Amino acid sequence: MRIERLSERVANRIAAGEVITEPLSVIKELVENSLDAGARRIDIEIRSGGLEKISIVDDGEGIFFDDAPLVFERHATSKLRNVSDLYEIESMGFRGEALASVAAVSKVTLQSRSQQEQQGFEMLVYGGNALSLQRIARDKGTRIDVEDLFYNTPVLGNFQKRQSILEGRITEFVSAFAVGNPQIAITYTVDHRRFFSTRGDENEAAAILSVFGEEALTHLIEFSMNTESFRVKGMQSSLGYSFPHRRRMIFFVNGRLVENPELRETLNKAYDGLLPARRFPMAVMWIFTNPGGVDVNLHPRKEHVRLYYEKELLQPLREALRRNLYQERAIPPLPVSNQKGPETSFIEEDADDEDPPDFSSFSYFEQQVKQEEVIQQVREPIVPVESFLDELHYLGSFKSAYLIFEGRDSMYIMDQHAAHEKILYETFTDAYKRRELHSQGLLVAMTISVGAQEREAWNRYRDDLHESGFETELFGEQRLIIRSIPHVFTQAQAKQYLLDYLAGSPDRSDITREEMMRKACKAAIKAGDAIVKAEVRQLIEGLKKTEDPMTCPHGRPIFIKLSLSELEKRFARI
Ligand code: ADP
Ligand code: MG
Repeated sequence: MRIERLSERVANRIAAGEVITEPLSVIKELVENSLDAGARRIDIEIRSGGLEKISIVDDGEGIFFDDAPLVFERHATSKLRNVSDLYEIESMGFRGEALASVAAVSKVTLQSRSQQEQQGFEMLVYGGNALSLQRIARDKGTRIDVEDLFYNTPVLGNFQKRQSILEGRITEFVSAFAVGNPQIAITYTVDHRRFFSTRGDENEAAAILSVFGEEALTHLIEFSMNTESFRVKGMQSSLGYSFPHRRRMIFFVNGRLVENPELRETLNKAYDGLLPARRFPMAVMWIFTNPGGVDVNLHPRKEHVRLYYEKELLQPLREALRRNLYQERAIPPLPVSNQKGPETSFIEEDADDEDPPDFSSFSYFEQQVKQEEVIQQVREPIVPVESFLDELHYLGSFKSAYLIFEGRDSMYIMDQHAAHEKILYETFTDAYKRRELHSQGLLVAMTISVGAQEREAWNRYRDDLHESGFETELFGEQRLIIRSIPHVFTQAQAKQYLLDYLAGSPDRSDITREEMMRKACKAAIKAGDAIVKAEVRQLIEGLKKTEDPMTCPHGRPIFIKLSLSELEKRFARI
């Protein structure tokens, strides 16, 4: 074969493979461009792990119509003018090849309008070929839709990980990015579902709250440190709060999100001996230094930076972090909110199902009280409850399953489990509707092993699970950590329910919330429980508040009525 020059398009595709290795790389480049464009608002949307579609919409300075053809040209950039600039890079992008690379391996639609122009434009570039460029009317700012990523590079396409993994990596990045840029209002949408949105009010704590939730925020303590060339500020987790992974270690160097093993190691060391084995702290740190203090031009994907002055930064940082911990007394706070318990310690093995309750714990009592409260909180009946419930006189139980009552001119047999299920179901749905589902934090997190299918199911339905009171987290590829469960469950039931739920049919769209709650309630009922008189009273009181005290959620009867005349018939008295 003769030697030939690669066409520019082929060469571009090869180069693209170095820059764009997975959907996450696209997201990184695009949001950095939006940031560079001074956006105050960025909407990020992905579908199918980013392979099907990635959309980034910003309200930044936009692109001049005349510059449109240059956007997708390699080494065309508005951010760098000469080589010496390379050493003092303050903007995020700098190689001018990100968009060229993205466009080479996908179908890109770019819309933009410069702040200084009256009209915008739309440009289509498929597989590196510019298909069209036309004027359109639109707001200032830029929108980029990237579809069918890697459609023309089967090798890259085939090597993509599972969508759920791709999505997880994007979520991790977008979360960190949103927290690191509280001045930008960021929305993040995955497969049409809103993941989070931040307000863009410049408040770091508010951004952390929006992205990681209240639990995280209440367990973070402020931190700051200054050395001659570094200024560091941020938040670090208190000792009661830790993770089984290092993914909550977020560092920004001069505003750029970085992956830096030395910084992670430094953070870890600050907690040496203070956390249980295999638990890691969370931190969000902003490190500022003069641009000469970091070298970003190391790696095509730019995620590694080399920090000069390691000695000057890392050791003092570690010491300051540790000192700060001690100052805050490093005592995990008692749970304040009734949604969650204290962060739990992580143990490798499955927690013993029959763990005796920890009576030394404040939250155990709190939970008990809450369960009672919940039973009392059941909504007022819409239809007045038949008065027969008021007249029931408890006689005794049969086989620990059926309760026998005397009523006016009739005898009633109650299926205690059906009754209990009914009450829990109504409590549960009611709490669900009011979005006040009570969940109990576990003192010792449980873990369950999951396979690929369950993991996929978890990825898809974790929001639903969360809304139902399950706080779960994936650890590695094969374990699911359960931190909170709905209060209606015992630990063993929760575990079983979760496993069953995750192992269900892959397409869960046919399962309604209601069915799920029914299952949940069903799992909450223990068979053959001996019942004491006070509990009988509770059951009756609970039933009074349900809409229909005669049938359970599955439509089975709760009561069987034997009237006096029926008895007399049977005894051949009449
Ligand atoms: P770089 O960011 O390294 O300059 P890119 O390929 O990422 O290279 O982008 C090329 C150019 O396109 C940028 O220099 C910038 O002028 C323009 N651009 C890209 N995205 C945006 C955006 N969201 N808003 C405004 N301009 C943009
Ligand atoms: Mg760029």
